[in-house]
Parts: sequence; structure tokens; C-alpha cells
Amino acid sequence: MDDADAVAACHEAALFFPNPRIPESRIPNPESTAMTQNDTLFGKILRREIPATIVYEDDEVLGFKDIAPQAPVHVLFIPRHVLIPTMDDLLPEQAALVGKLVLAAAEYARREGFAQDGYRVVINCREHAGQTVFHLHLHLLAGAPLGHFGVPGR
Ligand code: 5GP
Repeated sequence: MDDADAVAACHEAALFFPNPRIPESRIPNPESTAMTQNDTLFGKILRREIPATIVYEDDEVLGFKDIAPQAPVHVLFIPRHVLIPTMDDLLPEQAALVGKLVLAAAEYARREGFAQDGYRVVINCREHAGQTVFHLHLHLLAGAPLGHFGVPGR
């Protein structure tokens, strides 16, 4: 299947929203495919169409600084080759990919020297978590004591 067919398949089957349970082989590659309906801001960052401060890169994961940091260190880690809108859309066979996001964050924390002090990773899923970009990403927050988290006011 070429990229045009993949895009057409997504549109036909409304594959991305709300909850695609599709084989990974049918998901377009956001790093190389300029998506129309389902493209995201992070797809544009992956393809270097908009600027970002990239701080981590390996074969499967890209890490870049959040534009509105919520801690002294705030880096977003995303899959490079597969567009997964939310954590709820993950397939069992994509478990290793999630591990790679986590390991990338851990490696970055060690490399930058704050692993011993500690850090937090967060994945927001949909409305109640405040997800705004529908391209699976892991937040790494660090650089100061982060306090508690959860329901506001508790
Ligand atoms: P979410 O709320 O979906 O979990 O996280 C999306 C994150 O993307 C937010 O923390 C937001 O600050 C960040 N963000 C939004 N637009 C941009 C952008 O253009 N560049 C970068 N580097 N981060 C962005």
C-alpha cells in the first residue's frame, strides 16, 4: 500500500477517531507522509515543517522541548513512524513502542544528569486529562520538586 492509499483508507474507515483498532501496517507514517485530515502539530515537527528544539532522537523516538514548559525541564517524546492519536488507541502489539518512549525519557534523564534527583512522566488521554495534541506523546517533567498531582484542589 502506498501513502495515498493509506490516507484514503484512513478517511474511508474513519480510522483515527474515536478509537481505531487497526493493524499497524495500515497506519500512515507521520514522519514521511503529509497527512491531510489526520495530520497533527507533532507530525509537522517530525517532518521539520515547523521548528522545535529537538533534544533526543533514536530510530523510533523523537524528543523535543515543550513550547509551554510546566517544569524547568519539560520534554515531549513521540513515536516517529506511527501515528497513534491517544493512549486508548494503542494496540497490544504496540506495547514495545510505549516501552521505547519510556526508555528514551529515562536515557535522556541520565544523560542530562537529573535521573538521581528524579522526574515524572505523564501521558494525557483525552478530555479529562487535558490532551490537546492527538498524537501519542509522553511528557517528561523534571528540574525541581514537582509536588503532588491528580484532581485539582485535593
Ligand atoms: P497534551 O496536553 O496533549 O498532553 O500535550 C501537548 C503539549 O504540546 C502541551 O504541553 C503543549 O505545551 C505542547 N505544544 C503545543 N504546541 C506546541 C508546539 O508548537 N511546539 C512544541 N514544542 N510544543 C507544543
